[in-house]
Amino acid sequence: MSDESVVTKKRKKAPPIITINKDWCKSCEICVEFCPTHVLEMQGFYPVVAHIDQCTACMLCEYRCPDFAITVEKAGADDNAAD
Ligand code: SF4
Ligand code: SF4
Repeated sequence: MSDESVVTKKRKKAPPIITINKDWCKSCEICVEFCPTHVLEMQGFYPVVAHIDQCTACMLCEYRCPDFAITVEKAGADDNAAD
C-alpha cells in the first residue's frame, strides 16, 4: 500500500492592480460600497486600496464608478514566462 501524496505547487497569483485617478474621483464612495470583498476604504476624500489580497478582480468598482476614476488591471494575463 503506497501512501503517495501528490504535492501540487500552488503558484501565487499576483494581485490585481487597482488605480484610482484622484483628478476624476468625486468621492461618491460607490466603489467602496459595491466591492463585495471590502477591498476599498475611504481615507479622507479618496478611496484607497486597503486589502488588495481580498480582491477577486470582479471589476465591479470599475464598472460602477460614474467618473471612470478607478481601474482594475487583472494580473496573470502575461503569464508567458519562457525560461
Ligand atoms: S466610485 Fe469612482 S468617483 Fe466614486 S469614490 Fe470610487 S473612484 Fe471615486
Ligand atoms: S475588482 Fe471587485 S473585488 Fe476588486 S476592488 Fe473592485 S469591486 Fe472589489
